[in-house]
Amino acid sequence: MKKALITGISGQDGSYLAEYLLDLGYEVWGLVRREPAALRWLEQIAHRIEFVYGDLRDGESLAVAFQKAWPDEVYNLAAQVFVPTSWECPAETFDINVGGFARLLQIVERQKPDTRVYQASTSEMFGNVGAMCTEQTPFRPMSPYGTSKMAAHRLAEVYRNRGLFVLGGILFNHESPRRGPEMVTRKITRAAARWVLGDRTKLKLGNLQSRRDWGFAGDYVKAMHSMLQQDTPKDYIVGTGVSHSVEDFLLQVLIELRTLCPEEDVPRTIEDWVEVDPQFLRTGEIHDLRADASAARKELGWQPAVDFSQLVKMMIEADLASAREVMGTRAVG
Ligand code: NDP
Ligand code: GDP
Repeated sequence: MKKALITGISGQDGSYLAEYLLDLGYEVWGLVRREPAALRWLEQIAHRIEFVYGDLRDGESLAVAFQKAWPDEVYNLAAQVFVPTSWECPAETFDINVGGFARLLQIVERQKPDTRVYQASTSEMFGNVGAMCTEQTPFRPMSPYGTSKMAAHRLAEVYRNRGLFVLGGILFNHESPRRGPEMVTRKITRAAARWVLGDRTKLKLGNLQSRRDWGFAGDYVKAMHSMLQQDTPKDYIVGTGVSHSVEDFLLQVLIELRTLCPEEDVPRTIEDWVEVDPQFLRTGEIHDLRADASAARKELGWQPAVDFSQLVKMMIEADLASAREVMGTRAVG
C-alpha cells in the first residue's frame, strides 16, 4: 500500500485528492492546522485519514509529520492562495508558499530522498501572455502570490537537478462547490443562492471582462497523481484550453437558475443583480489565461470530464442546497 502525505488536505484540492487516493488504495496522511472534525469537506472520509498537526511555517512540525507519515509521495497543496491577500501580506505569502516548500524539500532530501514530491504551481506565474500557455511560456507574474509560486516552482527545478523526484503541476483555475468563498466563481454562486432565497442585496464584483480557463477540481487532482507516476519527473500544464469571462460565468449562472428554479424570482439580467465596485478591481490584473495542456493529454492521458456549464450547474446546486439548509435550520430554530 502506497503512502501519501497531503499538505492543504482541508482545502478544495486536498479534499478531492484525498478521496481519489483512498479510492486507489493509498494510505492517506493529511497535514492540518485545526481539529479535523471541523473540516467540512473531509467529514465523509475523515475516519480513513491519518491526521498530523503542522504548519508550513514551522519546520519542526513538518519534520515530525514527515517522520510519522514516512510517505512515498508528498503533495504540497497548502498555500496562501488569494491574490489580493498576497498584496496585504506579501511576506507571509512568501513564508508559506516558498519557505514552506523549501522546508519540506530539505526534510525529504535529508530523511527519505526517494519520496516523490508534487508542488502546486499555478497559471498565475505566467502573467499577461495574451495567448495559450505551454510549459515553455516564460513566467512574468503580476502579484506576490504569482511570484511566490514561481520561486517555489524554480526551487522544485533545482532540487530535481540535484536528483529528487519533484515536479510542479501548473494548474489553471479549477473550481467546485468546495472552492474558497473569496474566489470569484464561488462568490457568484453563493450570492445567486442567497438571491433565490430572497436576499436582494446587489452582488459587488470587480473586473467582469477578465477571463479564466475554469475547470473542475475533481478532474485536476487526477492529473496531480498521474504526474507522480511517470518514470521521470517533469512539469505539466493542466487546463481545459477554453477561457470564459466573469461576465460569461454570470450569464451561465442566470441560465442555470432559470432551469433549476423555474418557480422562483431569479435575476433577469446581470444589471438587475450585479454592480461593479472599484474595491474589487485589481492593479496588476491578469486579463486572460488559457492552457495548452497537450503534453498532459498526450503523456498522462488526462482530459477533463466536466465542462464549463456542468461546473456552473454543480456549484449552483450545491450552494442552493446549503443555503436552503441554513434557512431551514433558522426556521426550525
Ligand atoms: P484552498 O484555499 O482551498 O486550500 C489551501 C489549503 O492550504 C488549506 O488546507 C489551508 O489550511 C492550507 N494552508 C494555508 N496556509 C497553511 C500553512 N501555513 N500551513 C499549513 N497549511 C496551510 O486552495 P486550493 O485547494 O484551491 O489550492 C490548492 C493548491 O493549488 C494551492 O497551493 C494553490 O495555490 C494551488 N492552485 C490552485 C488553483 C485553483 O484554481 N484552485 C490553481 C493553481 C494552483 P487551513 O484549512 O488550515 O486554512
Ligand atoms: P485568481 O485567478 O486566482 O485571481 O482567481 P479569482 O477567482 O480570485 O479571480 C479571477 C478573476 O476574477 C480575476 O481576474 C479577478 O480580477 C476577477 N474578479 C472580478 N471580480 C472579482 C471579485 O469580486 N472577487 C474576485 N476574487 N475576483 C474577481
